[in-house]
Amino acid sequence: MLKGILKPKKLISTLLLILSIIIITVLLLPKLPVSPRKPASVSLPGQVESTSSAATDEQNPSQKSLEVQAANVSGYCLNVPVLLYHHIEPMAQAKQEGHAWLTVDPATFDQQMSYLASKGYTSISADTLAQALITHQNLPKSVVLTFDDGYQDFYTYAYPVISKYNLTANLAIPTGLMNNPGYLNWDQLKQMVASGKVFAYDHTWSHSSLPKDSQEKAQFEILTAKKQLEQNLGRPVNIFVYPYGSENGNTINLLRSDGFIAAFSTVSGFTQCNSFIMSLHRNRIGNSPLSSFGL
Ligand SMILES: [Zn+2]
Repeated sequence: MLKGILKPKKLISTLLLILSIIIITVLLLPKLPVSPRKPASVSLPGQVESTSSAATDEQNPSQKSLEVQAANVSGYCLNVPVLLYHHIEPMAQAKQEGHAWLTVDPATFDQQMSYLASKGYTSISADTLAQALITHQNLPKSVVLTFDDGYQDFYTYAYPVISKYNLTANLAIPTGLMNNPGYLNWDQLKQMVASGKVFAYDHTWSHSSLPKDSQEKAQFEILTAKKQLEQNLGRPVNIFVYPYGSENGNTINLLRSDGFIAAFSTVSGFTQCNSFIMSLHRNRIGNSPLSSFGL
């Protein structure tokens, strides 16, 4: 009779032990990266003839894994999240235009920027981050806001919010696409850059995937955009943002020989180190609260 009572107890404690082991194992397992999402096809009207689609610099919108591979972390490092945005526009409009997955609604964007301010973040330029890494300076609690591809909706919806919270924005501009419908024009970019709160960086001329280009074509893409930005905005441009996040050793060598001091990838992570200053981390932000991205 005694044995009959003990046996179920033993069984229960054994089951609890197995359950605990399973839970601990699951919690300790490293999170696997989400595979990149295949880009939606976007046709590019006008100035630049391109068979590739723009606005695909990011990984799956659902990706929230922000761990840094331990092997990457070496040299002088700073914990500075770099946030990656594309379109900021009303979601209904974005759905009609077929790029909802690349869009943050203006009301949500306002909440996200308000959150950063409330959490004591200073928004800095990509230049400031690069210089801090190069010269081993510390930074206050900082964040870098980046907006890829030079869309018109940045001027209409994001810039007013950036101004409202006195933030700094970093735009990755494929210069050959400017003045096309849906893209910024030079007057708008000049006006924003003159405010001192908006910075523009090289994102090639035609939003080209550099590792697929010949050396000559890649050089043309990089230097044409650099020259156009410098001539129009009157300031040096030596930071690059990889279209499609595409890079390899040749691309980095080319950028270095062209005088670039830093470049941004689409690999997620909050840690930035001078050992990978030509492939700094960025984190794609969607419509969830920033707290859900670990900020
Ligand atoms: Zn892009």
